[in-house]
Amino acid sequence: MKLDRMLSRRGALIAGASALAAAGTAGVTSLFSSTETPSAGAAGGTSGRAAGIPGSPGGARSPVSSSYRLSPVAGFAAPPGRPARTPVRDEPFLRVGGLGRTVVLTFDDGPDPRYTPQVLKTLREHRIHAMFFVCGNMAKAHPDLVRQMTEEGHVVGNHTWSHPLLTRLPRSAVRGEMERTSEIVERTCGARPAWFRAPYGAWNRDAYRFGAELGMEPMAWTVDTLDWRTPGAGAIAARVEEQASPGAVVLSHDAGGNRSQSVQALRRYLPRLLDEGYHVAVPRRRAV
Ligand SMILES: [Zn+2]
Repeated sequence: MKLDRMLSRRGALIAGASALAAAGTAGVTSLFSSTETPSAGAAGGTSGRAAGIPGSPGGARSPVSSSYRLSPVAGFAAPPGRPARTPVRDEPFLRVGGLGRTVVLTFDDGPDPRYTPQVLKTLREHRIHAMFFVCGNMAKAHPDLVRQMTEEGHVVGNHTWSHPLLTRLPRSAVRGEMERTSEIVERTCGARPAWFRAPYGAWNRDAYRFGAELGMEPMAWTVDTLDWRTPGAGAIAARVEEQASPGAVVLSHDAGGNRSQSVQALRRYLPRLLDEGYHVAVPRRRAV
């Protein structure tokens, strides 16, 4: 299965704006295009190693210095070398449109050597790509896992350095949390994150603005598995299966506590989603 729906930058913005206007805070958008939707039904469809991610030169991984450090707050110039400017949003994207019967799986707060390898293993077995919103301090402690995410075709997003409530931080601290995390991800896997997710879903203007300066789009979620409450693997899986819908973004965690239920749940709901005809894929941003 190959879905190749390229939108021009202008067309994408218009589509995104109209979708946002219609959906309000629901944030339904068709902004993002996908060049491939690797899934269990996609024969050989998982070869695109980080393809399509801005700043990722076709999988070549050469550690880059921190040349994209944020500009001074007063200046909104894109960091040097950015292929395209990232717009400053005023709300995060909650779902990904335009991909048909596709869902996106996201795992936050990691990597954690107790759980992340198991999540990666399950995804690998089903030839599925997912998004990992990593914390900088965890990425620094477990760089091999971040590298493995990239090498196996997953998307590594920025989830701040230490998982603070950004809305209670001074501006300089918000910037530092985001910037340091983008730096460690780039140093580790050769590509800076193209996506950002605020801890606890607590967004503010600084997060949107610094995210844009660092070349990241804000991504929230549609389905909250509430796995952090440890309700049991069955309950987590049921929540995903019941709430899955075209374009849905599923939130779960591979760190931040005992995530064995999250690991177990994934093994249950992932094959069921695929059996129901869902494609599980990651959004691809395009610098047009
Ligand atoms: Zn989190």
